[in-house]
Amino acid sequence: MHDKKGYVKFTKQMKSDYVILAPDMLPMHFKLILCVLQNEGYNIELLENNDSSIPETGLRYVHNDTCYPAILVIGQFLEAIKSGKYDPNKTALIMFQTGGGCRASNYISLIRKALAKAGYENIPVISFSLMGLEKHPGWKLSLPLLRKLLYAVFYADLIKLLMNQCIPYEITPGDSVKKSDELMKYLTNGIADRSLISYREIKKNFIYIIKEFASVPLKREKKIKVGIVGEIFVKYSPLANNNLEDFLLREGAEVVLPGFVDFCIYSVYNGIVDNELYGINGFLKPAQKFAFDFLVNKQKDVISLIKEHSDFDPPTPFDQVISLCDGVIGKGVKMGEGWLLTAEMLELNEQNVKNIVCTQPFGCLPNHICGKGMMKPLKESHPDINIVAIDYDASASKVNQENRIKLMLSNARQASGIKAITETDNEEIKNREEALSFG
Ligand code: SF4
Repeated sequence: MHDKKGYVKFTKQMKSDYVILAPDMLPMHFKLILCVLQNEGYNIELLENNDSSIPETGLRYVHNDTCYPAILVIGQFLEAIKSGKYDPNKTALIMFQTGGGCRASNYISLIRKALAKAGYENIPVISFSLMGLEKHPGWKLSLPLLRKLLYAVFYADLIKLLMNQCIPYEITPGDSVKKSDELMKYLTNGIADRSLISYREIKKNFIYIIKEFASVPLKREKKIKVGIVGEIFVKYSPLANNNLEDFLLREGAEVVLPGFVDFCIYSVYNGIVDNELYGINGFLKPAQKFAFDFLVNKQKDVISLIKEHSDFDPPTPFDQVISLCDGVIGKGVKMGEGWLLTAEMLELNEQNVKNIVCTQPFGCLPNHICGKGMMKPLKESHPDINIVAIDYDASASKVNQENRIKLMLSNARQASGIKAITETDNEEIKNREEALSFG
């Protein structure tokens, strides 16, 4: 079944006998999101192939001036299809899109072009977009399903936030990852129960997650905190950022990663901005306002629960994040991560996280303007901020990337008086890695 535009539709029949492959964009979040979708009857699988050949495969099927995330996603899809593990006649792909003005809205066409070039033009590609970029008879996003997906994002954000604050300080290496695995299992089992759970139950789960992490024995120690910002894919995906989080942990730092919930609220808020600045889609304003308030209020609930039940640092409420940009960057700058990227650097600075890695994918103009381009004004207004922009592309050398981050860390250590990692620390890190590989 083809659309007028010629693309293959994902039909109702396919829902029951096709496997849908999803790219590895936000590993922890996608595990929960996919679990929700599996319980809606979709046979959906998260791709975890991360061979070093993926960028090369991607480059074989898309032009080399395409954004690096597109090259990776296409490379990962094609390697999976060619692996022989999946029947190409019973396989579909899914791509997650915000539907904004950035090139990400064209990823679907790029994927289809790459599939055709590789001889798989009959594989349907589903667009997962709240903007309804495309319609597929076998794919439906209902309101109850959206609600479940949103809470999956809140759960994953919370686990990631607390786990990051535990790992560098744990007394027994591997405790926090073990805790996270247990909680993910607990949550996926809960999601498997198809009933729509009440917000009271969801709040109970938030508290349970917080208390479980608060029970991990930690040592009191001062570590360098390093924030990660950047284009959404390279910021979160280890495939795209060469396992940046693991590298920072090995270097003895605490990773501070702004949550994905912020990106979701940002995407909703951009609709409101469009209406205010350009008078676009005024009829959607009440729904956008409702969605914005809903998300911001739920985020505030999570923040209050973290404060009430633990000593962990909560995220900054999103309305505060918005105001951090006032006088720095306009809200109309909203392609890709847009003004949020600048806001996240300011948010980290407010949280006293002065060391920041700004991850830059090749071909990303928004990132160069709102990330690299904003470094100078931010350093001028906040002289103690220590930002390093790291480029990620198919030909970038991992050693160069890591050396530049090491230099940033060494400046950070000098500024804070924290000692460099020692032989004993290295031993500890090795133990942690061993524990992680068994976890
Ligand atoms: S945000 Fe950057 S990497 Fe992502 S689609 Fe836009 S230009 Fe490409």
